[in-house]
Parts: sequence; structure tokens; C-alpha cells
Amino acid sequence: MSEQSPNHHAVPTFDEMTSVEVGAAIKENAVILISLGATEQHGAHLPLGADTMQGIELARRTVARLHAEGHPAIVGPAIPFGPRGFLSETPIKLPGNVNLSASTFMKVLEEIGREIIDQGFRRVYFLGFHAESDAPMQIVAKSLCETTEANVVTLNWLVGARPRYSKYMEAQAQDGHGGEGETCRMLATAPHLCRMEKAEPWHPTISENQPEADALPYLGGGVGRFKMAEPYFQGFTSGVTGDPQLATADRGELVYDLMTGWLVDVIRHDLQGTEDYSRAEL
Ligand SMILES: [Zn+2]
Repeated sequence: MSEQSPNHHAVPTFDEMTSVEVGAAIKENAVILISLGATEQHGAHLPLGADTMQGIELARRTVARLHAEGHPAIVGPAIPFGPRGFLSETPIKLPGNVNLSASTFMKVLEEIGREIIDQGFRRVYFLGFHAESDAPMQIVAKSLCETTEANVVTLNWLVGARPRYSKYMEAQAQDGHGGEGETCRMLATAPHLCRMEKAEPWHPTISENQPEADALPYLGGGVGRFKMAEPYFQGFTSGVTGDPQLATADRGELVYDLMTGWLVDVIRHDLQGTEDYSRAEL
């Protein structure tokens, strides 16, 4: 943990809170962060719940920093299932994946959002930690904004903070699912669950001269390509993209600081612009 980071270990998750504590948070107009995770393979070295664990970790760190600035905030319930992985990320089936269809996922997210809003929360953040949840969460946030008094905002740190954290990474080659960045974060989140002796690198075969903005939309690109032409996935068997052997917990802390800083900037900016937003009487 960096010196200026407040202690996020003291921040409870939603299911660790009591009804009285949640009621008090609603009364002080707290913002609530709902993490969107997954239950899916992350190679031989990371647990199936890696996305959910990182989402909760990032929400706790963000809430700790908001508290330190005097903004009421709580960690909302995390959703541990998401839509099936993109074929352009993991084109093979591996054991352990438990996914929802996109339509079921949107229904679950909308109903959880509506429950939260019915209780009195008026600013809800969907914190994506599973790439495939990005498009569905935007559709649900739009719908909830149109049909309730709440303001529901989606957060995609892959666009907001990831480009700046590449300076903390050792790898020169492409890094992705279960790679150096994600393994750094998991070493900072739950080191006892990282089987580093099983971590294996794999890198895609990338064609040259890619057109401008040729990246998937959830990474900020302009091309929704969900199947990759061979030889991109040549030799792909582990489900990992990148080199997890390069990962360290120290650099996991640094990238969490960067991601948390971006999220707090966004939320602080939102709150400054909407201090008088309307809310129903409880
Ligand atoms: Zn992941």
C-alpha cells in the first residue's frame, strides 16, 4: 500500500454490513459501487473468482479514499457471474466457467439496481471488472436512468486508467487475461490464492500494420471483432494472454493506486456537479 492510501481493509463489503448501517448510508446520500465480476478460468495460476475479487478490492479502495475526502460511499453487492468470455479473448472451453447469457445478466443487473434504488440510493456506479459486462451494463444503466430517479453511471477502468499503467509493467509484448497486469493485481489482492509456480506465458501472433483504433470497444477501440483469424491464437492452451511470471505485488499496489485515483476523480467530479440532485423522501 502506498503511503497516502487510506486503510481499505477496514471498509466492509455490502454483505458484511448490517441493515442499520445501510440505512444510515442511504440517509447521508452515500454513493454505492456495484462490482461486476465473473466466475471463469484465469489460467493455472489464478482462481476462478479473480475478476470478482479484484472488483471488490477496487471498490473497497475507492470507498476508503472517498471516505478520507469526506464523501459518503459504500461497497455495494458484487455480482459474481457475467456473460461468456469473448472468443477473441478465450476461443477454447476450459473447466470452471459459469456464465449467464447476456439477456439474463442484464435482467439480474437491472433488478439488483432497482432494489438498491427502491431503498433510496440515488447515485449508483456499475464498476466493470469483466470485459464482457461492459456493453450490457451500459444498456442497463441507461434504462435505470430513464425509469427511476437515480443516476446510474458505468465505470470502465480499462479505458480510464489502463493506458497509464503500462509504464508499471515489465512486458513489452501484449498483455491480457491472466497476464502480468492481472496477476500483479491478484498478488496485491489475495497472494495466498496465486499459484505462481504454475504461471505460464503465452503471446498471440499479431499481424502488422493494424488500422487506427483497431482495438475492441471495451478497450476504447473502434472495432467490434469477436473472432480472431489464425495464426493469432497459435499455441493457445492455457487461457492466459501475456506473461504472469513477471508479476509482483508491489506493482499491483501501484496500479491499484492509479485505478483508484481515476475512479475517485470521476466520482468527485460527478458529486461536485450534482450536489442538489433530487431524491425521494425515505
Ligand atoms: Zn480477469
